[in-house]
Amino acid sequence: MYQAPRGTQDLLPEEQPYFAHVEATAGHFASLYGYQEIRTPTFEDSALFRRGTGETTDIVEKEMYSFIDKGNADVTLRPEATPSIMRAYLQHGMHARPQPIRLFQIISGFRYDRPQAGRLREFHQFDCEAIGEDDPALDAELITLLWRFCDALGLHDLSLDINSIGDQACRPGYLEALRAHYEPHHEELCGDCRRRLSVNPLRLLDCKVPSCQPIADTAPGFTDHLCDACREHFARVLATLEAEGIAPTLNRRLVRGLDYYTRTVFELFPPRAGSQSALGGGGRYDGMAEHLGGRHTPGVGFAAGIERLVLNLKEQNAPVPPTPNAQVYVGHMGGQAESVASDFARSLRSRGVSTLRAVGERSLRARLRHADAAGVRWTAIFGDEELRDGTVSLRDMNAKSPETLAFDQALERIVSSTQDRTE
Ligand SMILES: [Zn+2]
Ligand SMILES: [Zn+2]
Repeated sequence: MYQAPRGTQDLLPEEQPYFAHVEATAGHFASLYGYQEIRTPTFEDSALFRRGTGETTDIVEKEMYSFIDKGNADVTLRPEATPSIMRAYLQHGMHARPQPIRLFQIISGFRYDRPQAGRLREFHQFDCEAIGEDDPALDAELITLLWRFCDALGLHDLSLDINSIGDQACRPGYLEALRAHYEPHHEELCGDCRRRLSVNPLRLLDCKVPSCQPIADTAPGFTDHLCDACREHFARVLATLEAEGIAPTLNRRLVRGLDYYTRTVFELFPPRAGSQSALGGGGRYDGMAEHLGGRHTPGVGFAAGIERLVLNLKEQNAPVPPTPNAQVYVGHMGGQAESVASDFARSLRSRGVSTLRAVGERSLRARLRHADAAGVRWTAIFGDEELRDGTVSLRDMNAKSPETLAFDQALERIVSSTQDRTE
């Protein structure tokens, strides 16, 4: 028997209410804040992610689904959305439109990672980006959008971590201070951290290895090393969030795993947070467009993990709206009644009533069991008697006992009941 590949999952119909709720709320909040939908390809030139996500990130070093296609092109299934959206911005000359460009996308992404709860190799994300402006009001807008979106989903007691990781002007000075703090501890560091010390010192703060924690905890914070412009930017982000009633926690160790972030970075955590359990996060990436060979183009965005949001909705027992069932089940008893039952189903559907048509030959008991399992409001059964009299045996599933009605009368009864419901 074949199984779904490790780290992937089938979303059966009973899972759909959760995913539909998250995706509908995401689309609603994106448009509420003026973000327009974009759809970028599932795979891109591998170099886009090597340049855009960054050579020294875990994603690029260990997790990308890359392959050479039949035309010898080196392509990668997208591990995240941001480089694709920036590529589309540059490719289509969106800088010529009024700035910023606000975009959102719901994607499936791919990372070869160790699968665990809420962490899959094929995962889904709600992604929002605002490109073409460095105004701190935009950083605050995206954080607010993410916060209000989670609140509207029905998730409670979330916490928001924030930090600033500066820009080209102040980062060299901070990295020097970080190296000076770490160098004396060189022998105590894990292998990854020894390497990070020379290649990517900012990521030292990200280390999860227990023996590295005391060193990271006592490391200097970037917010004490920001240049005037970055300090002013960060202060305005915090002030705007305060006006929105959002109180983030300054987390000096928050640097995000991706190379392209500048200034503001943030992550959103559920109440019982483990080290890998951020529901979403993001930040500013003013340097990315130039990394991709474009002109200087500031940008800020976030991604929220849909599987993790669903996991937390379930843990918090948040109510989600059910996906609609068919309203009517139409069954025939015996081959003679088959065509009149089909006429009835056709009439219902032409009036906009969702209808489940029974197939094959079954007992009445089996038909009713099926109708019950399908959660319909009405069941219409056509047998020899109904065929002869031009009637239908109609059951209101709340009442159970059937009524015999003329074909048209039954049709009107059902249509008017479904209209009552929608009004
Ligand atoms: Zn370490
Ligand atoms: Zn700076």
